[in-house]
Amino acid sequence: MSSPGRLREGGARGWSTAPHAWVLWWAAALVVVFFLASASVWLAPPQSSVAAWWPASGVAVALALWTRRDRLPLTVLGIAVVTTLANIWGGRPWETAVGFGVANACEVVVVASFYRGASTPPGFSRLPDLGRLVLAAACGAGAAAVVAGVTVAGLDPSASVTMRAVFASHAAAILIIVPMTMAHLPTRGHASRQELVVQSVVLALVVGAVFGTKGELPLAFAPMPVLVWGAARFGVRIAAAQLLLSGIAMSLLTTAGRGPFPYAVASLDYPPETVGTLLQAALVASALVSLPVALLTDELAASLTRARTSAETLEGVMEAATQTAIITTDPVGNVTSFNAGAENLLGWTAADVVGHATPAWWHDADQLDRRASEAGMAPGLRVLVAPLEGDSASDRRDWVWRTRTGEELIVSLRVSPRHDAEGRRIGWLGIAEDVTRNRRAEQVLRSALDRERDAGQRLVELDRAKTDFIASVSHELRTPMTSVIGNLEMLLDDSLGATSPAQRLALQRTDRNARRLLMMLEELLLLSRVEDGTFDLRVRRTDLVEVVEQALHTLDVARGRSGVEVEIHAPGEQVELDADAEQVERAVMNLVSNALKFTPAGGRVDIRVRDEGATVSVSVSDTGVGIAPKDVDRLFDRFYRAPSAVREAVPGTGLGLSIVRAIAERHHGSVTVDSRPGQGSTFTVRLPTTQGDEPAPA
Ligand code: ADP
Repeated sequence: MSSPGRLREGGARGWSTAPHAWVLWWAAALVVVFFLASASVWLAPPQSSVAAWWPASGVAVALALWTRRDRLPLTVLGIAVVTTLANIWGGRPWETAVGFGVANACEVVVVASFYRGASTPPGFSRLPDLGRLVLAAACGAGAAAVVAGVTVAGLDPSASVTMRAVFASHAAAILIIVPMTMAHLPTRGHASRQELVVQSVVLALVVGAVFGTKGELPLAFAPMPVLVWGAARFGVRIAAAQLLLSGIAMSLLTTAGRGPFPYAVASLDYPPETVGTLLQAALVASALVSLPVALLTDELAASLTRARTSAETLEGVMEAATQTAIITTDPVGNVTSFNAGAENLLGWTAADVVGHATPAWWHDADQLDRRASEAGMAPGLRVLVAPLEGDSASDRRDWVWRTRTGEELIVSLRVSPRHDAEGRRIGWLGIAEDVTRNRRAEQVLRSALDRERDAGQRLVELDRAKTDFIASVSHELRTPMTSVIGNLEMLLDDSLGATSPAQRLALQRTDRNARRLLMMLEELLLLSRVEDGTFDLRVRRTDLVEVVEQALHTLDVARGRSGVEVEIHAPGEQVELDADAEQVERAVMNLVSNALKFTPAGGRVDIRVRDEGATVSVSVSDTGVGIAPKDVDRLFDRFYRAPSAVREAVPGTGLGLSIVRAIAERHHGSVTVDSRPGQGSTFTVRLPTTQGDEPAPA
């Protein structure tokens, strides 16, 4: 049968894609079935009710396996019709012809049912493919035999002879013809063309000698070893082809009355159908011997090729890894391979070390001893592989290696067990990378970090000592300063006697400066309390408007001494929040006094109190000198004063804004600034209306 494979398009299988061409092929295959069937009927032994061979069934099954599933019923019908017609044309009564047509159709249905989930056409490259074909052929031929037996039972008392003959001829036809038409037939490329020619000639000679002669000697088995030779050397495709061709030759010669079977049957006085049955049984036997050999040889060749390819890949990888040491050992640690990377790293060649024991060769002996005693075992291979419980790969571990020249290396080594196909351990695989430079860099980095951390620690301690010092100095100075102010007050209200106007002027100046000094001491004390965490808030329900008014009152801005107009903008009702009123007042005072200090006469200061729902805010805007953008980030640092403030000798300590921020943050709030040089600044303190139980961190 011609290969219909050329009809396939775009990788689709079977006759599913070419819209009209399949009809031609389908019809051609049915015509072939018709002529093969007719020829078999014509050539049937004269006294026999069935043909001696039936290649039509092989072609019919192949046609069914190439047909798309949905066209199978049509194909089965076609086969039934053409085989019936062939039998009628061959001179059989029409009842018998119809029975045989049904038998052929049944056979095709049964065989096709074995290939329901398979591709179209099915593949034939592995032993299970042969198993399926043999089973399908046995069942299909069995079905045909039963239907044919029932058909002839009325005419012929020896229906069992018919059944045997039908079974053998159909099974042989399927096994010999169908493999040739299946997909993925492998061909082995190892044997030479000359050998194929020699083997084919030998096969032709043996078939000719055994089946072409008078055949006094029953040598029917003789072609079998030659077929097996072909199967073992040239693969499934050629084995199937030789099986088909020699089967055709043997059948034709036997039909012509030559070869061992007619002779044996005549001499033993068996019924004439037995000639065909014996021949077909011999063909089935040949197929069952040569096809498995061919398939197994192909599978073996394929797995050998796979094994060789992966061995070559592995070897390539091992040699290409010039910076990675890949070392294999046997189960007791004797080196079996040593790649180029290992040679580069250690300085020995593979020839030096293969066959010698690791780890003694290059591992640092002291480290091995130390780790062995830590693990409670003798120094040796076990120290490296003991962690490999459960045969998994070990974790990476750093080891010290010594090169041939005595240089010390730190390597990151991963050891894993090697197993053979049966799962037996055949040794160990070690993969190591030189990490000396990385580890040394890490070491340097680590000690630099340690030094940094120590320095940081010392700075923190110094800072704490300084804060303690400021706190105790401020505390110690506050009491004498309070006493100085008290005495100045007494002098000023003349309780210690009358003072002259000049003395009074001096006393007033001294009083002002003493009060500034006291204020500064208090600010310092407050800041150091915030920093060491001993600053407590006395939180209660507070009206922010009242707090702001109180701050302005304390600052005595109403007198307008600075020539700057101050105005409060507040909602009509109270703006309540949980807060330490005294501290919030201090914050507002700092902001307003800054605004007054940095706003020239004729300017104005606006204080806005807002209720924003979950938060409240107070913002102090002035039309003063403003702040350069580069200074804004540092305003809240302790003792920071903008260069312009220093230049203009504006009085101040640089503590005010740090205190404002400390107070805002202790209330879980914030302070922000928005300023433009020459146009003025706005400082806004925003506080939540309620304080949780959790105090804000100092
Ligand atoms: P002090 O006012 O005692 O110098 P502060 O911490 O209150 O210290 O302020 C720090 C610096 O911030 C001031 O020296 C000043 O340069 C700048 N500054 C604060 N408020 C204003 C303002 N309203 N306008 C312009 N500059 C200001």
